[in-house]
Amino acid sequence: MPLHISTEKPVLDMPFTPIHMGPGIFIKALLQGSFSLMVFGWTQIVMDIQPLVVMITGEGHLHGFTHTYIGAVLIAVASALSGKYLSELGLRILGVTNDGPIKISWLVTFISAFIGSFSHVLLDSIMHGDLQPFYPFTEANEFLGIISVYALHKFCLYSGMLGAGIYFLVNRKLFT
Ligand SMILES: [Zn+2]
Repeated sequence: MPLHISTEKPVLDMPFTPIHMGPGIFIKALLQGSFSLMVFGWTQIVMDIQPLVVMITGEGHLHGFTHTYIGAVLIAVASALSGKYLSELGLRILGVTNDGPIKISWLVTFISAFIGSFSHVLLDSIMHGDLQPFYPFTEANEFLGIISVYALHKFCLYSGMLGAGIYFLVNRKLFT
């Protein structure tokens, strides 16, 4: 069955990539060196290229196949392959070093990209009515509206703040 075309107002359904960074910072605090926030962030951008193109051209399904869990596997692989060296370059440009340029292992790259794309589909499926996360198995989206968009945005913001706090506490302890 084809994906149906969203009839909702694009303004209400706008992809808002940055809110995904909040939980990303929290995951970084938990996984520390086993997780790359840079690769995670790159994955958020790659995820929302499709909705952005649809919004600009006004054609196609707003979230579509990229915002399904099968799509998330493909996005994760694409983001990992394109994101490893790009993220290392980004860290170098930002001046983030660790006795020389930081290398991100392929394992960490793939872990971060997969967490990035799967968490993206989960969060977006709560707030966007046109998402069909389990396509092609079912067009239903059980996650839609389980919490309000306002609560979801607050969760993303606070998880980011909490994550940043934990990250700096843990790292300060490491260096003392
Ligand atoms: Zn999205």
